[in-house]
Amino acid sequence: MSKKKTTEPVGCLAVLLKLVGIDLGRIPTDKTLPFHLRDNFLSPAELSFYHVLLQSIRGEYTVCSKVNLSDVFFVSRPNENQGYRNKIDRKHVDFLLCDSKTMQPLLGIELDDASHAKKKRQERDQFVDQVFAAAGLPILHVPATRGYNVSELSEIIRSSLQSKKTVPRTPRVLNGERFCPKCQIPMVQRIASKGMKKGQSFWGCANYPECRETVWGDDSSAV
Ligand SMILES: [Zn+2]
Repeated sequence: MSKKKTTEPVGCLAVLLKLVGIDLGRIPTDKTLPFHLRDNFLSPAELSFYHVLLQSIRGEYTVCSKVNLSDVFFVSRPNENQGYRNKIDRKHVDFLLCDSKTMQPLLGIELDDASHAKKKRQERDQFVDQVFAAAGLPILHVPATRGYNVSELSEIIRSSLQSKKTVPRTPRVLNGERFCPKCQIPMVQRIASKGMKKGQSFWGCANYPECRETVWGDDSSAV
């Protein structure tokens, strides 16, 4: 018999939540699960920098903290590149500037404290830089200090953002096959199942949904 204790959600709140489609189900009351809320989600140095960063971007972008690299990047042909996927799975970037409307990542920011001088950490940093470069996303390293110059940081961020690569929109065509301009792998011909273009033929990346590159029309000679 399971030792897990549960209890039925009762009272007005549970009834109201069910009415709007939220069913709490059976709430575990077992207090033995070893989860606790961290008091150091951001370290004091990260928190200090975070506030300066907010001043520097003047509300133009959205800042995400501690973002896992596998939420930002994907590997093409995952079956062949499992090793590369594993290499980014447990790594994160300290801060990520995103377009506030689309949440498209625009710039990674690493706060380099004393630990970044260690050899192992430098190897990790180098690899992360290579990942960003391969994907065409700029990354900025800011040395951790006691104080930051807001206007100087603002200027560095502005120039870093300008180095973001734009993906050419035209796919390469070789032997009748179209290659995704971002992933450089053959695109797949599909039929739109919904939306304004329902029933129309288009070419989509085989890495969908991670890559949403599409070309409309079924004539491969047209490109
Ligand atoms: Zn693609």
